[in-house]
Amino acid sequence: MPKYTFSCASVGMDCGFEIKNAGSEEELLEMLKIHAKNSHGITSIPPDLLNKIKSNIKMSGKYSFSCASVGMNCGFEITNASSEEELLNELMVHAKMSHNLTSIPQDTLNKIKQNIKVT
Ligand SMILES: [Zn+2]
Ligand SMILES: [Zn+2]
Repeated sequence: MPKYTFSCASVGMDCGFEIKNAGSEEELLEMLKIHAKNSHGITSIPPDLLNKIKSNIKMSGKYSFSCASVGMNCGFEITNASSEEELLNELMVHAKMSHNLTSIPQDTLNKIKQNIKVT
C-alpha cells in the first residue's frame, strides 16, 4: 500500500507540522483539517489551498506497469520502480526501442498512468 506524507512547510507554512505515512489521501486530509482548524484557525480549507496541499502530498510506494494492461502484447513489465517519474522514464526507453514511439501521445500516456499499479 502506498503511504502519504505531508508537511506544512511544503506549502509555505512555518509551523513544523508533518504527517508521515498515512494510509490514504483521505485519511491524511481528515487529519489535516483538524490541524488547520486547531493550529491555523482555518475552519474550511479553500479550494486553491487544497489543490496546493494535494500537489505537495508525497506518495511513497512501488510503481509497476505492464504493457499488457494497455493492450500491448509484448510481455514487457516494470515492477517496483521507486517513483512514477522513474517508471515513466524507463517506459519511454521501451516505447522508443520496442514500439518505435519517439514520444507517447497524451491519450496513451493517460491510459498508461491509469494502469500504473502502486503497492
Ligand atoms: Zn501547520
Ligand atoms: Zn511494450
